[in-house]
Amino acid sequence: MKNVVAKRRLNKRKVFFTRVSLIVLVILLVMTVKVSFQQRKIKTSSYLGNKVASSSKKHKASSVKKNTVVLKNQISNDGTNAEDALKEDGKKTVYLTFDDGPSTTVTPKILDILKANGVHATFFLVGHAIEGSSKAADLVRRAYNEGNAIGDHTYSHDMKKLYRYNGRNVVDVDAFMNEVDRTQSIIKNILGPTFFTRIVRMPGGHMSRVYYKDPNLPQLDSVFRQRNLVSVDWNAYDHDAEGRKEYSGELFNHVKNEVGNHEKAIILMHDTYGKEETAKALPNIIQYLKAQGYEFGTLK
Ligand SMILES: [Zn+2]
Repeated sequence: MKNVVAKRRLNKRKVFFTRVSLIVLVILLVMTVKVSFQQRKIKTSSYLGNKVASSSKKHKASSVKKNTVVLKNQISNDGTNAEDALKEDGKKTVYLTFDDGPSTTVTPKILDILKANGVHATFFLVGHAIEGSSKAADLVRRAYNEGNAIGDHTYSHDMKKLYRYNGRNVVDVDAFMNEVDRTQSIIKNILGPTFFTRIVRMPGGHMSRVYYKDPNLPQLDSVFRQRNLVSVDWNAYDHDAEGRKEYSGELFNHVKNEVGNHEKAIILMHDTYGKEETAKALPNIIQYLKAQGYEFGTLK
């Protein structure tokens, strides 16, 4: 009898012990799963963190190299890379470019004509022509919003400041770049901090520096490359900034002759104060080029 009772007790204990250990086992199992899940979560997020960190590191390194800050959602011109503009590809393309503006007298006329004819142009702006003028700023905004391209034509356009170094006719690289940056930041103030234009037209043209065998030109070219900037010259010109003022008919003839049979043409014109004849010539210039089978491109 005693033995049977003892056996029963033992059995009860056994059952109790098994139940307890089962519960402990389940608790342990749940805890293990939870911990491993959390660990995986930490791992994943730290992987993402590393990825972000390493990509921003990469970003930093390349921007240091280029010395430019690439902003998120950066906006710029639409169009053809300036380096490729004159490369022949079997299609006739013309790039209308207007320098020295904006002006409140001529630029609105040019913009109206471009719009009426359904074509776009590239405007190389002078910083000091914009600064402090809300009307000029409105014209820059209008030009860009209507699909035209915006380029940098230095701040002062003053040859004596840009191309005078130790009393010689040589580009002052620091002065030149300061002016490019100053105009770039004036444009950013109008079009937004994410705007960046890489196209620069050197006053007098890059070709004039080559002509003068400017010894500082290779240094300027190298700074341009490092900064992802590109100098844009022209291969046709309407002669609207020469000594003798020419009338619209003459300007039109210059364009006709200088574009000639070029498959690709970058045409230099001006939209600064006093260039009303350029605006007068423009409708004929556009009609002529269209009739010759040219498409109108913008530069970036
Ligand atoms: Zn100019």
